[in-house]
Amino acid sequence: MTVVGGGPHGLLVALALARSDIEVTLLEAQSSEPSSSPRAMMFHWSMLGGLDRLGVLDDAVARGLVHRRWSIYVLATGERLYFDLDVLADDVQHPFTLHLPQQTLAEIVIARLAALPNVHVEWDTRVQRVEQDADGCTVTADAPGGERSYRSDWVVGADGVHSMVRRSAGLGLPGITWPERFVATNVRFDFASLGHELSGVQLDAQDGALVAKVDDSGLWRYTYAEDLALPEETLGERMRDRFRRVLPDGVDVEVEAYGAHRMHQRVADRFRAGRLLLIGDAAHVTSPSAGYGLPGGFFDGMTLVEALREVIHFGADEEILDRFSEERRRVFTNLTSPVSSEHKQMLWNSEGPGRIEAEVERFRHITASPSRQRQFLLVGRGLQSAPLRSMRKVGATEPG
Ligand SMILES: Cc1cc2nc3c(=O)[nH]c(=O)nc-3n(C[C@H](O)[C@H](O)[C@H](O)COP(=O)(O)OP(=O)(O)OC[C@H]3O[C@@H](n4cnc5c(N)ncnc54)[C@H](O)[C@@H]3O)c2cc1C
Repeated sequence: MTVVGGGPHGLLVALALARSDIEVTLLEAQSSEPSSSPRAMMFHWSMLGGLDRLGVLDDAVARGLVHRRWSIYVLATGERLYFDLDVLADDVQHPFTLHLPQQTLAEIVIARLAALPNVHVEWDTRVQRVEQDADGCTVTADAPGGERSYRSDWVVGADGVHSMVRRSAGLGLPGITWPERFVATNVRFDFASLGHELSGVQLDAQDGALVAKVDDSGLWRYTYAEDLALPEETLGERMRDRFRRVLPDGVDVEVEAYGAHRMHQRVADRFRAGRLLLIGDAAHVTSPSAGYGLPGGFFDGMTLVEALREVIHFGADEEILDRFSEERRRVFTNLTSPVSSEHKQMLWNSEGPGRIEAEVERFRHITASPSRQRQFLLVGRGLQSAPLRSMRKVGATEPG
């Protein structure tokens, strides 16, 4: 099996495949050095059980921050509303969100992979094309020693939004690009002093934001959006003005790093083309406003591993891979994308008479009752797919 892309989903799917007794070669274009750009850091509660089953949750919790409350801070009035994740205690084993820079999770997973005999990771190896024939796939890449090719039965494309695997499969990524860019900043300011929980949203018609504590060193993530038509070169000036508007007078915030990104709602027509299989941002992209990017891709990977295990170890019909594709596409189209779009519009397009007031009123109603909070939060449980029903050959047994 070749996995292209060593982002969060490529690494986690490689780990799951290897733990299922499947030989894996993972090819990653970048070096193993951590990137300094702010990237994903919030791991939704729905995927923590899966991380636990992969044996990485304890280390992740030890190196991250656990948070059980989520706040809504209304900038104009200072009103604060709270969701308590303990309302999920009877529903899930891990009723909390984990804050952990994605690079730290990568370090944990890479250490696990290094201990397994059936995984091989090649860094600085950029895939240029993928071809398939009746017997398998050939991946051609620029590797440190020159061009190299890799042969395998299947290729998993976990190579992000510009996926070479997806393009090699002849699949597009239709959908929309939002007219705003989002700006993720790592800043040194204690947002808890304003009444924010470790994570939450700031509701405002102009200055909506996602706010989350990154670690115990005083670093916070503040993510906002601005008109995509504004020049990116002058983003720094507007950022200073924004912090002046939203923070108490006299506060001079230290911006340690930031990254600006376009936002999309896009999904490939299929996540399978013969022997090529897509997961994560290679298969679909969403605005980050609901925190569904990581769990969506994670469950793609886990559902795919289940299907591949059936095909490889139990001789199941390859049709199960089509079911993987249909099922994961359904989850993105029916849940991830509409919920993320709704959150995005609430956070970053809520100008207009009464819009914010209506949202605040809605959240007052929900947060006033634990059962309504539970109902609201449990929508995220749908990100996970039920096991695909498999067809096994008569006499096949579980792997040892
Ligand atoms: C600033 C920011 C903050 C975010 N915050 C959150 C968050 O807090 N919670 C959340 O749930 N989601 C968040 N998201 C979304 C989340 O980061 C993505 O959904 C997730 O990273 C997708 O992971 P991936 O492994 O599919 O793709 P990627 O993370 O894009 O990884 C793809 C990998 O493939 C490699 N690659 C690409 N092309 C090739 C090639 N040709 N050959 C070899 N390798 C290749 C790349 O180098 C990269 O390492 C955030 C996104 C951004 C941009």
